[in-house]
Amino acid sequence: MTRVVKEPSRLSLTAIREYAERIGEHYDIYDRAGTADLQALLQKLGGKLAFGESKESLHVSAPGNFTIFLPLVTSSRRDRFTIAHELGHYFLHYLHPKLGEAASFGRGERNSVETQANVFASSLLMPEQEFTKAWKRFDGDSYRVAKIFEVSPAAADVRAEVLRLK
Ligand SMILES: [Zn+2]
Repeated sequence: MTRVVKEPSRLSLTAIREYAERIGEHYDIYDRAGTADLQALLQKLGGKLAFGESKESLHVSAPGNFTIFLPLVTSSRRDRFTIAHELGHYFLHYLHPKLGEAASFGRGERNSVETQANVFASSLLMPEQEFTKAWKRFDGDSYRVAKIFEVSPAAADVRAEVLRLK
């Protein structure tokens, strides 16, 4: 097992948001409502899930061969966010660590690997267009919106803030 080297990506958070959604679209994981099929994505990527007592983590054997470990006692919505978060590490910090290297950065504009993985997860699970539609349709009711994207209401609220919907 290769430990994933966790150097922050040079991509800006905005670029990470776009990148995550492009991955979702590329692998065709969204249904009409915008709900992401993470099982299908994992299968296409060569990723497996394993449940155990250990903390959530990503173990990579090679590109296209990795395992995401999840704790036993968590909700499925929490698991979805964790899976998407670990996929963020996989793409940003393992597969393509040099993405955005040519971009010039402003002072101190590097985000932690954990922030980057969370931003990736949020965008992968809540694609902008469908999320915006749902947010407007349900008049900012984060519980109902969260249900569509199978995330926690708190995650939906954060996404709405990022997209300046509230
Ligand atoms: Zn992480």
